[in-house]
Amino acid sequence: MSIEARQETLGFQAEIRQLLDLMIHSLYSNKEIFLRELISNASDAADKLRFEALKDDSLYENDTDLAIRVEFDEKQKTITVMDNGIGMSREEVIDNLGTIAKSGTRQFFNALTGDQNKDVHLIGQFGVGFYSSFIVARKVEVTTRRAGLSRGEGVRWISTGESDYTIETVDRPKRGTRVVLCLRDGMDEFLNSYRLRGIIRKYSDHISLPILMIREGKDEKGDETVNSATALWARNKKDISEEEYHEFYKHVAHDFEDPLTYLHSKVEGKLEYTSLLFIPSHAQFDLWDREQRHGIKLYVRRVFIMDDAEQLIPAWLRFVRGVVDSDDLPLNISREILQNNRTIDSIRAGCTKKVLGLLQDMADRDAEKYAGFWNEFGRVLKEGVIEAKDDKEEIARLFRFASTHDDSDKQAVSLMNYMERMQQGQKAIYYLTAENFVTARNSPHLEVFRKKGIEVLLLTDPIDEWVTAHLHEFDGKPLQSVTRGELDLGDLEDQDQEDQAENTNQGQDGLTERIRQSLGDKVKEVRTTNRLTTSPACLVSDEHDMGRHLEKILKATGQSIPAVKPILEINPEHPIVMRLKDETDDGRFAEWARILFDQALLSEGGQLEDPAGFVHRLNALFLDLAGSKNTQDGT
Ligand code: ADP
Ligand code: MG
Repeated sequence: MSIEARQETLGFQAEIRQLLDLMIHSLYSNKEIFLRELISNASDAADKLRFEALKDDSLYENDTDLAIRVEFDEKQKTITVMDNGIGMSREEVIDNLGTIAKSGTRQFFNALTGDQNKDVHLIGQFGVGFYSSFIVARKVEVTTRRAGLSRGEGVRWISTGESDYTIETVDRPKRGTRVVLCLRDGMDEFLNSYRLRGIIRKYSDHISLPILMIREGKDEKGDETVNSATALWARNKKDISEEEYHEFYKHVAHDFEDPLTYLHSKVEGKLEYTSLLFIPSHAQFDLWDREQRHGIKLYVRRVFIMDDAEQLIPAWLRFVRGVVDSDDLPLNISREILQNNRTIDSIRAGCTKKVLGLLQDMADRDAEKYAGFWNEFGRVLKEGVIEAKDDKEEIARLFRFASTHDDSDKQAVSLMNYMERMQQGQKAIYYLTAENFVTARNSPHLEVFRKKGIEVLLLTDPIDEWVTAHLHEFDGKPLQSVTRGELDLGDLEDQDQEDQAENTNQGQDGLTERIRQSLGDKVKEVRTTNRLTTSPACLVSDEHDMGRHLEKILKATGQSIPAVKPILEINPEHPIVMRLKDETDDGRFAEWARILFDQALLSEGGQLEDPAGFVHRLNALFLDLAGSKNTQDGT
C-alpha cells in the first residue's frame, strides 16, 4: 500500500489569528479549560460515531468500547488526549481546524472593539473550543482518521498557532483522533496526574464516556476511569451539584459561561422521557441567524441521535439548550420521521410548558434576574404569541414593556402590572408603537392619556407590530393602539370635555373641510380630536387600515404596500388652529395647513416628503411673524 504523503502548508482564516490572540490573553487565568474543551470534542466525536453506526455498524471496526484517554509525558512535556470516535477526513480537518465554521462568526468579529479588556467577555459568549489548546501549548499536533476510511487515509495537522498549519496524509491504523499538546514554558503544573484528574473531575465528570488515565502507584499498571461516566441527566437530581449542571451545560451548549437557570425533569407514564433544559445567560451570537445550530440534543435510551433537533422545541424558544432522552422512540429515527411523530409532538409540548413554567417562576422569584433574561431573549419570546397556537396568554404573561407609568426605557412592565393599575371604567389596554423610546414617549398621541393618568405601553421593537396584531386581548381586555381609529375613552371621558368637544366640533366643520381641501390627497380625512392637549395636530390611521408604524417597517424592508392615507386630527383649542380659522389669505392658509401636517408627521418620527419645503415654509412664517412684530414695535 502506498501512502501519498501530500504535505502542504495552509494559512489560517484571518480571524483565527485574532481569536487566538484574544483567547491566550483573556483566558490566561483560566488556562485549565483547554482540557475540558478537548474532552468535550472527543465526547462529541463518540456521539457522532454511535449515531452513524446505527446505519452502518462496520464503522466500529470491531472496537465498540468508546472511551477517551488522557496521558502526559513529563520528559517530553506533552499532554495527549485520544478518542476512538468518528475522526476526521482531510477535508474535515481543513474545514474544522483551519476555519471557524460557527455561524455568527462575522457578528462576533464585528462586535470586537480591539480593546482587549472589553473584548474578554465576548469570547466567553462565543465559545472557545479547540483553539483553547494554544493557551497552554506552543505546538499542537492532531492525528486522526475518519471511521470507514482506510488506514492510509489518516491525517496529521500541526500548528504553532501562528498564521498557518501543515497538513499531511499519514498511515493511521486506529480510527479516531489524537491531540498532542507540546506545552509552553511555565506550564509544567499540568504534567501532574493529580492535577489532571482534578481538572477532569471538575469540568468533565458528566461526560458519559469513560475518561481513562493510567493508574498511579507501584502495583501493576492499568487503566483507571477518572469520571463518573454516566449520562448526567440519567442520574438522580439529588446527587447532582449545581457545578455539575453548569459544566454539563457548557459542554452541550458550547458555551463558556454558566447558564442563567435550568430544569431537570423526568416524565413517567404513557410517555417516558427525561429533559434537562438550560436558559443561557447571554444571547448566542447566531440567535438571529437562520442556520443557527446547537439547540436541543436528542438521545434515545442514552444513545445520541442528533444535534439541534429543532422539532423538540418551538423556534421562539430556540435559545434553550439541553438534552431530551426518550425511552419511546426507535433508535433509527431520522429527521424526516421527527417531523411527523406524535411522541415528538408531545415531548415538544411538554418541554414548551416546562420552559414557560421555569421562566414564570424566575419572573416571580427574582425580577432582576428575569430582567436580564428579558433583555437577552425577550424579542425571541415575543415570536411566541405569533407562532404558538396554544399558551398565548401564558407567553404574554412573560412579556415586559416600557410604559408611561415610569417613563423609563427599561422594559419592566408586565401586562399584569398594567391591569392592576387600570382605572375604574377603563375598557382597553392602551399601547403605542414607535421606532424608538424617545419618539414614543414624546408622541402627541399620549397627551390626553397623560392628562388623565391612563397608562400607555410604549412598544419599540419592530416585532411589536406583529405581537399586537396577534395578541388581541389579555385577560379579557382588548389591546388598543392609541394611534388608530377615533379615540373613545368611554367612561373615562369627562363630561365637560365631551360637551366642549361637541361644541367646538360644530364650529370646526368649515375649518376641517378647508384644511382637507388644501391638503388634497395627502389625507383621508381631517377631524378634530380630544386626544391632544398641547400639540396642534397628529396623524392617526383608520381603525381597519394598516398602522402607520407598521407601514414604515414594511417599507423599510423593501415591501411594496398600497399607500394608506392618514387621518389628520387637529386640536381645536390650540392657538395655531384658532389662528388658522381666522386666516383669510388662501395662500397663507395652505402654508399653515401644510406645516400642521408636516409637524404631525415629524412628531411620530416620520420622514417628510419635502423637508426643504418644510423649512422654507416655516421660515417664511417666522419672517412674517417677526415682520408683524417689528411693525408693532415701531408704532
Ligand atoms: P465546537 O466543538 O464548538 O464545534 P471546536 O473548536 O471545539 O468547536 O471544534 C471544532 C470542530 O472540530 C468540531 O465541531 C469537530 O467537527 C472537529 N473536532 C474537534 N475535535 C474533534 C475530535 N476529537 N474528533 C472529531 N472531530 C473533532
Ligand atoms: Mg468543542
